[in-house]
Amino acid sequence: MRSPIQSTGREGAFFGYVAAVGVAAVTVSAPYLADLPAFLHRAPAGFWLVAALAVLCAAGPFEFGAVPVFPSVCFVMAALLNWGIGPAVLVQAAAVAVATARLARRPYRAAFDTGRCALALVAAHLFGPLAAVLFGPLAAVLLGPLAAVLFGPLAAVPGYFAVDAVLLGVAGWLRRGSRRPADEVLATGAVLLLGVLVARAGYLAPLVLVPLYAVGRMARLAGQRDRYLRLDPLTGLLGRPALAAEVAARTRTHQRFAVFLLDLDRFRRVNSALGHEAGDRLLAAVGRRLRDTALPGEIVARLGGDEFAVLSPGPTGDAGRRAARLAGVLAEPVVLDGLPLDVSGAVGVARYPQHGADPATLLRHAEIAMYDAKSRGDAVAVYAPDADHHSPDRLSLIADLRRALADPDGDEIAFHYQPQVDIDSGAVIGVEALLRWRHPRRGPVDPGELIRIAEYSSVMRLLSRRVIDDVVAQLGRWASAGVRLRASINVSVRDLLTTEVADWLADRLRYHDVGADQVQLEITEGALMVDPRRVLATLRRLDALGVALSLDDFGTGYSSMQHLRRLPLAEVKIDRSFVAGMVGDPDDEAIVRSIIELAGALGLRAVAEGVEDECTYRMLATSGCHAAQGWYHGRPMPADELLPWLSRRAAGAARAVS
Ligand code: C2E
Ligand code: MG
Ligand code: MG
Repeated sequence: MRSPIQSTGREGAFFGYVAAVGVAAVTVSAPYLADLPAFLHRAPAGFWLVAALAVLCAAGPFEFGAVPVFPSVCFVMAALLNWGIGPAVLVQAAAVAVATARLARRPYRAAFDTGRCALALVAAHLFGPLAAVLFGPLAAVLLGPLAAVLFGPLAAVPGYFAVDAVLLGVAGWLRRGSRRPADEVLATGAVLLLGVLVARAGYLAPLVLVPLYAVGRMARLAGQRDRYLRLDPLTGLLGRPALAAEVAARTRTHQRFAVFLLDLDRFRRVNSALGHEAGDRLLAAVGRRLRDTALPGEIVARLGGDEFAVLSPGPTGDAGRRAARLAGVLAEPVVLDGLPLDVSGAVGVARYPQHGADPATLLRHAEIAMYDAKSRGDAVAVYAPDADHHSPDRLSLIADLRRALADPDGDEIAFHYQPQVDIDSGAVIGVEALLRWRHPRRGPVDPGELIRIAEYSSVMRLLSRRVIDDVVAQLGRWASAGVRLRASINVSVRDLLTTEVADWLADRLRYHDVGADQVQLEITEGALMVDPRRVLATLRRLDALGVALSLDDFGTGYSSMQHLRRLPLAEVKIDRSFVAGMVGDPDDEAIVRSIIELAGALGLRAVAEGVEDECTYRMLATSGCHAAQGWYHGRPMPADELLPWLSRRAAGAARAVS
């Protein structure tokens, strides 16, 4: 199977070349064609037999599988050797006409094939006698009497072969930017040599159909096996190795393109709920849809599991828009047995040459972009080196974090606490624990950024253990000082895939004699999309323990109503991007108000994060928001500053009352 023709930017040159070959062929072969009518008038039966065999080969099953070699050329060569250029060109033209009709090729191809063949025939005609003069004596010594019979005809073959190879090679390079496969060159040479025998075979010429048919059949079977290895049997799309080969072919010739890596979101759920057979049908339907909506020149592949890829040739400037379209294609529900299934998926984009020079790097970068999109709850992400959690810089940061966590008494890692205030009463109802890491060389590391990197490594487990250790121990110390506080702990996507976090938390609460109601876990919606079933099991376990759950950064992820309804949540935290904008932007204000109403209707607390000023705080109060967290009340502060801060705040409130 050949890939669709990609633009090489040399189309003008290609068609100019085709025209030049046509003109040259007419000019060079015209003198030889003059005698053709007279020849046809008295053509021997052997000629008609050879012509009929050529046409039969062009029309029938004598095709050499994936290698586009026409065995009819063997009879064309025989016609040349027996009757000269004119009759040979005629046989070739008839065979090309039949092959063109059968393969529905464009007429210019027929003209080009006839033209190049005519030029090659003239070359063979001239080269044969020339070679006989130059090398004949040597051949006579080597071959003896046989040379007199075979040398002349055999010497014509290299002439034909060389001119044909050059003409075809240039056309292929201009059209596809690629070289001719070696198999094709070899097969053409073999068929031409067979022509020498056919020329001497007389009425036994049809016997040559037997080896031609056998070779053709073997080639076709090899082609089928090749296709089978290249294609994914479930969807009929290219498989991963074939896609890598397509990418490699383009990087070799420096053609611009983009690779889109698509991964379905809810496939595992369909598989476990409806069975593997339904899962297979879903994948086949998605594959069909991607193929049907592919743009001209695009190649669609299935890489395995629920991962697909699209290779899009040409300039990559609007790859982001194409990715959004592909995400839209995935977002359309798939109907299986009358049941609409909402799959959707994330798309990662890597562009050549900006994002990698070889297939492995490009596919890996597209995959990183795809995971980046998933973790942020977006449908699309273009590769950014920032998102590469495996870059050397990031790996060294993770190694440093592991080292810092290994020392339980070290002072590099600490937790700061930010108060949360009840909007009705103004009382501090809790604090959120926020990680602070002062790197010995880099200084303070941005926690949001750090979590995004750590989430992809096993260090996350250690970090989550440390948060739980430190925060629960701190709650115990505050309790000993007579202050019973509630702390919110952020947990990552990874933490929720096993119940380990719940078990460890239960252990620490018992150890420090802290109530489960004094701890709340903040989770993000991204976490829920990775493996909803396992995540739900952990959340149920935490709920049973009496630990409240809060849905963090609400409004930025999938914001599925399902989450609010099905999860054992106590509160939603409205993302600070909406809260910060609500004073100046009516849209943000409307979003914040609707989230508050929605939370109220479902019996959940609404907490606004990122409240920086009084105006925002008042708007939240009139909208019925329950609690606020932000710089307006207090920045995250070290644990030992919290009690003095609370005392100062209580004193200030008392002064305001008196
Ligand atoms: P988050 O859980 O949404 O935390 C709230 C973020 O908003 C914190 O950023 C906080 O410092 C910041 N913030 C609070 N009030 C204001 C305000 O009025 N204005 C503005 N502009 N920002 C405000 P921070 O500390 O940089 O943490 C970023 C994120 O890192 C957190 O977002 C959380 O997702 C993650 N994170 C922090 N600590 C931990 C941790 O111990 N474990 C895990 N898994 N994630 C953590
Ligand atoms: Mg949080
Ligand atoms: Mg948040």
